[in-house]
Amino acid sequence: MLEYLPEQSPDGILQLMQQLRADPRPHTVDLGVGVYRDASGNTPVMRAVRQAQERLNSTETTKTYTALEGDSAFLSAMQTLVLDDERGAHIAAIATPGGTGAVRLGFDLVRMAWPDARVFHTDPTWANHLSILAYLGMEAVPFRYFDAASHGIDMDGMLQDLAQLREGDVVLLHGCCHNPTGADLNATGWQALIRAINAAGAVPMIDLAYLGLGDGIDADAAGLRAVCAACPEVLIAVSCSKNFGLYRERVGALLVQAPDARAQRLAQGAMTHLNRQTYSFPPDHGARLAQMVLDDPALCRDWQDELAEMRGQITALRGALAAALRARSNSDRFDFITAHRGMFSMIGASPAQVTQLREDHGIYMTRDARINIAGLGVDDVPHLARAMLDVGL
Ligand code: PMP
Repeated sequence: MLEYLPEQSPDGILQLMQQLRADPRPHTVDLGVGVYRDASGNTPVMRAVRQAQERLNSTETTKTYTALEGDSAFLSAMQTLVLDDERGAHIAAIATPGGTGAVRLGFDLVRMAWPDARVFHTDPTWANHLSILAYLGMEAVPFRYFDAASHGIDMDGMLQDLAQLREGDVVLLHGCCHNPTGADLNATGWQALIRAINAAGAVPMIDLAYLGLGDGIDADAAGLRAVCAACPEVLIAVSCSKNFGLYRERVGALLVQAPDARAQRLAQGAMTHLNRQTYSFPPDHGARLAQMVLDDPALCRDWQDELAEMRGQITALRGALAAALRARSNSDRFDFITAHRGMFSMIGASPAQVTQLREDHGIYMTRDARINIAGLGVDDVPHLARAMLDVGL
């Protein structure tokens, strides 16, 4: 039977990583995969996570199963971190393997509740959103978001496209640090979006994979908290991969705000069922580390400090790259790099220019010209600025 399997096209990022590994040149710059790197190019185990891990090792007495929805202390820690909310909202929650698990089960939940739901998504969006929707056979509808000319947001285009929303459609948003563009909505933009969603009776679903890597936890969560205050139903897919550095441990959660206790019970039942059907119990080790960090005031403070250091490094690299480009090009046309937030910026190179950057300068990025700012070493900044101008940007 296996010969009847369809051929899968290789994942763009993984292909890029292979190409990079095979590159014999002594100096290459990897701006491809979305992983944080410190000044020495390492992706560290965060200090507080390491301490929690040592504590867990010495105190853990069992590896028996947790609950199907995941550990309740982890779920309430996630809820407090993301929503920080005293409203007594009706929240259903499950732990999931990473943010991808939460996105996948969030789509599954939508499909169970409203089989004809269409999922409106920013154009562009994280490629895996689209491939999961295609895999599930759900209709994906792009709406205008990124304005290539200003490298900011096309508000008018976005609102025109969202006028097509129907009741029960889902609007998939990035909580902060938009992947791949780096362009985030401001408070006015979020409010306009909320009005468009509520006018149609649509449901917002927020992918939150970079909380704390933009302007700080509360600033990064402000948009989604405004959505939760204004919309009766909200799905939130949380990832702890980047902000806790827990990538391979697969830590995430799906939080669902329901309008009342009955809908909360139905959502919780469906979400727990989805966990059971997919893998029974979600992974617990990494979730417990995140929970221990969040619930211990000293560890939590240290985690927030280290997260602020990571954010500060990204901001400094953005500033340095924009300054180098300003000096070399004698113009401010690259200042958008400092307006973007999070690990990524889309720099507007054509596929041919992306190839040229790789072949002539050893600089690797995805085909859509997304660069991972956190992949830059300080010494790479002048090289990248020179190369960008050299290929005609
Ligand atoms: N959503 C977005 C937009 C992402 O960029 C990522 C990470 N690449 C995720 C979700 C999920 O990441 P993970 O499954 O590793 O937690």
